[in-house]
Amino acid sequence: MQSFDYHRASTLADATHHAGTAQALAGGQSLLPAMKLGLAAPDALVDVGGLAELQGITRTGDAIVIGAGVTHAAVAASEVVRGAIPALADLAGMIGDRQVRHRGTLGGSLANNDPAACYPAAVLALNATVHTTRRTIAADDFFVGVYTTALEPGELITRVSFPVPQADGWQKFKQPASRFALVGVFVARHASGGRVAVTGGGNGVFRCAPLEAALSARWAAAACEGVAVPADDLSSDLHASAEYRAAMIPVLAGRAVGG
Ligand SMILES: Cc1cc2nc3c(=O)[nH]c(=O)nc-3n(C[C@H](O)[C@H](O)[C@H](O)COP(=O)(O)OP(=O)(O)OC[C@H]3O[C@@H](n4cnc5c(N)ncnc54)[C@H](O)[C@@H]3O)c2cc1C
Repeated sequence: MQSFDYHRASTLADATHHAGTAQALAGGQSLLPAMKLGLAAPDALVDVGGLAELQGITRTGDAIVIGAGVTHAAVAASEVVRGAIPALADLAGMIGDRQVRHRGTLGGSLANNDPAACYPAAVLALNATVHTTRRTIAADDFFVGVYTTALEPGELITRVSFPVPQADGWQKFKQPASRFALVGVFVARHASGGRVAVTGGGNGVFRCAPLEAALSARWAAAACEGVAVPADDLSSDLHASAEYRAAMIPVLAGRAVGG
């Protein structure tokens, strides 16, 4: 790992000032391994980990608002989240291991946008809004590609607003060594219809139109049976073929909808 400057931000304004020239460090559960492996080599880090302005889980009208600095463990343990969007609490509670859950944050996961990460599927299926130091970004516009988002240099996520759905579910088929999703599917029923987001399947999180059509017509596990999901854009690797992943998606969607 190369040497770098480190600044611990005292306020969000301080962090924003430094973010112009330094990379944000939150829980360090993705960035530090990347630095150790030589995959990232920032000259400077600004630590946003302890910022009070990035904390908090609240219910605001028909949405749950979670600060970017809230850890996965805190989301998993939150009665507010579990009462309104139980699958989101389940998702957070299944991320990585205990250390990862107690250090890793919502904002760090979304900014990192690993193609097998869990939170992006929830953000997309729940039609959440990402709030930053500059603007708000709709979920459909946030995830741009592998490890790439709509965030501009120096722009920090401050919080995420998740609309409370009528029903929700999450299923992750784990890669047993890393616990990332080999395939993960988040389903949400909104007044406007069903939204289904898939992670781990390909080059980043995506919405699954055939399953959304099926679940919008009938919100039932059986509606997912036999829905054909094309394998064309899915990944094949030593863990699973694209065809295997394609076959898993409707199965996991049906389990996520439940009985
Ligand atoms: C062993 C292991 C297992 C894991 N398993 C899973 C898993 O099952 N599912 C899963 O989804 N993830 C998993 N992860 C990743 C984990 O969820 C990380 O916590 C998360 O990806 C990054 O969050 P962080 O707070 O640690 O961010 P950091 O590592 O500190 O930062 C990650 C990136 O986000 C940027 N960033 C951080 N905060 C902000 C902000 N507020 N605004 C803008 N940019 C910001 C950083 O600059 C950096 O580019 C695992 C990690 C490990 C090490």
